[in-house]
Amino acid sequence: MSLSRGSHYLAIPGPSVMPDEVLRAMHRPAPNIYTGELHEIVDTILPDLKRVAQTEGDVAVYICNGHGAWEAALSNVLSRGDKALALATGIFTHGWATVAERLGVQVERRDFGRSSPIDPEVVEAALRADTKHEIRAVLAAHVDTATSVRNDIAALRAAIDRAGHPALLMVDCIASLAVDAFRMDEWGVDVMVAASQKGLMTPPGVAFVFFNQKAAKARAQADLATHYWDWKPRVAAEEFYQYFCGTAPTHHLYGLRAALDLLHDEGMEAAWARHAALAGAVWAAFDAWGAAGPLRLNVADPAHRSHAVTTVHAGRDNGTRLRNWVSQHAGVTLGIGLGMATEEDPAADGHFRLGHMGYVNAQMVMGALGTVDAGLKALGIPHGAGGLEAASAVLARA
Ligand SMILES: *Cc1c(COP(=O)(O)O)cnc(C)c1O
Repeated sequence: MSLSRGSHYLAIPGPSVMPDEVLRAMHRPAPNIYTGELHEIVDTILPDLKRVAQTEGDVAVYICNGHGAWEAALSNVLSRGDKALALATGIFTHGWATVAERLGVQVERRDFGRSSPIDPEVVEAALRADTKHEIRAVLAAHVDTATSVRNDIAALRAAIDRAGHPALLMVDCIASLAVDAFRMDEWGVDVMVAASQKGLMTPPGVAFVFFNQKAAKARAQADLATHYWDWKPRVAAEEFYQYFCGTAPTHHLYGLRAALDLLHDEGMEAAWARHAALAGAVWAAFDAWGAAGPLRLNVADPAHRSHAVTTVHAGRDNGTRLRNWVSQHAGVTLGIGLGMATEEDPAADGHFRLGHMGYVNAQMVMGALGTVDAGLKALGIPHGAGGLEAASAVLARA
């Protein structure tokens, strides 16, 4: 007997669940790339992406995953030997910093640990100490997908401004775009990177670099941009192929068009509010379960928790045991512990993550939480009572 037959739920922080609308839009023969519908779709996707990012700036589209967007963003504004300041709250800004180093950028790293957000005062002090203004860029993740820490990007901009420092603010929104509220222009973000497969509900394979006028000016001095990563032709294409530096990602574009339609039908404010309510339900369940036993949310302060993903401490081996149980017996895949290894737990088996980004609704989150509840009982993992009641109460109030 198995309880896992039926639709499987991939509750990991990307790739996220793909809407039927996106799948249907992609299920088609190869389209004409010279003229017609595909060209019209690109003309509508670019302004719609800017609306999602809340920017009047430009957006360059690349056929790659998030790692490619990291490299694209850096190489358009920096030169070999330039300095950058990387602010880590997990693993992803470290990853971006490593890409920068491999490009020949000198990176100064500040690590705020695995459970805390960026401290703007530390950033202000670091920038004030750079009296010659050699630091060209400040790198940060809006949400670190390993730790589920969410950073206050407006506060980071304010710290840079208080220091009177001209560095570009470059933000990784790969996990958070269309999930956690983000206002690129209002918050003074100069460069932002995103990818298709998380809040944008489209398969991995296209990624985006948004940038403003200040970043466009930096492009003029940057010597790292190669032919392929150069964003200039991609935002001012005279020929259609220049948008993608070659063949367009035909089917991704159809899928993305459908995903953007879903987002715009819902409205950005409503999409952010939905994710906030679903995340609140997840937190309430784990708070109740954590009242007795080893379960604990990684980020103590709700103000610093992402609405896209939740990282949980489950106690020695329990993360892996629980993931295996819900996968085998309940048809749910949870995310592995990432970047949470310690000396006692080198494989981070004591952690797991629940993704709740993109095409996710109340029944999916309650279903995932319900199967976690069953797994805790089946495996004899001690936990407080009332997790599911607490989660449903949050949804009822929303
Ligand atoms: C997923 C993710 C990445 C990496 O994206 P890939 O598409 O796997 O290259 C980078 N940063 C953040 C915050 C992410 O969530």
